[in-house]
Amino acid sequence: MLVTLKGLLEDAKNKKQAVGAFNGTTLEGIRAIIGAAEEFQRPVILQHAQSHDTIIDLNEIAPLMLHYARSASVPVAVHLDHGSTFKRCMEAIRAGFTSVMYDASAKPFEQNLMETAEIVKAAHSVGVSVEAELGHVANINEDPGEDNIYTDPALAEEFVKRTGVDCLAVAFGTVHGLYVKQPRLDLSIVTQISEKTGIPLVMHGGSGVSGDNYRRAIKEGICKINYYTYMNTAGGNAARSFVKQSGEHLAYDCLTLAATEAMKQDVMAAMRIFGMDE
Ligand SMILES: [Zn+2]
Repeated sequence: MLVTLKGLLEDAKNKKQAVGAFNGTTLEGIRAIIGAAEEFQRPVILQHAQSHDTIIDLNEIAPLMLHYARSASVPVAVHLDHGSTFKRCMEAIRAGFTSVMYDASAKPFEQNLMETAEIVKAAHSVGVSVEAELGHVANINEDPGEDNIYTDPALAEEFVKRTGVDCLAVAFGTVHGLYVKQPRLDLSIVTQISEKTGIPLVMHGGSGVSGDNYRRAIKEGICKINYYTYMNTAGGNAARSFVKQSGEHLAYDCLTLAATEAMKQDVMAAMRIFGMDE
């Protein structure tokens, strides 16, 4: 069933769990994510990042995401990941998404705040939830500079008060993509922001963080974890093995099933940790 992000995350916050947010860039990915959630009977966030428009456009994938969300036996929020303009957020809302992320984290604080507030006003008026980002979760090839790695808890408090966002992505040492070395996480930042804002917090750059660090972050207030890179790689690796085993007669449809199953297993392993099962 299709639900809003706000409801999902408030529930997770009360239970001291996190809900996994997975990017459904292909039909196989979407089936893997929904399949894993149904097998566990867990809520899930199915999301599309603006940067994945190069793989498939939002308007092309949205009907598929919404179809699987509506038919699922578990609550599913359909979310725009890293929207960079007002227009893009409105497009996602018009397409039927129940939640949008507006990411102006690279802009100056006051500009990020004002622009986010404008989107919150528009989104809330039609019952859509909003995630914003303060402090900058870097991409793997980018040097964020020491000062810019972590979100300032005092600024987070002001940002949440003045924008009215439903959840906030915070920077405490994770990066997007594959880690070349173990990340240096500062979980006291999460604790402070959670205490000051009281809203569910979001971890970006979830692939490659150790199980222990996930659990500690969830205990401190992380309620949504963005996870994609490892899931995507699991699908790719399964496809490669399938090609090797297939010899001369390689069936493409069977290859997609092998990739789907591998991604589903990877998502299930992540969900087990996010749900604090182990
Ligand atoms: Zn992100």
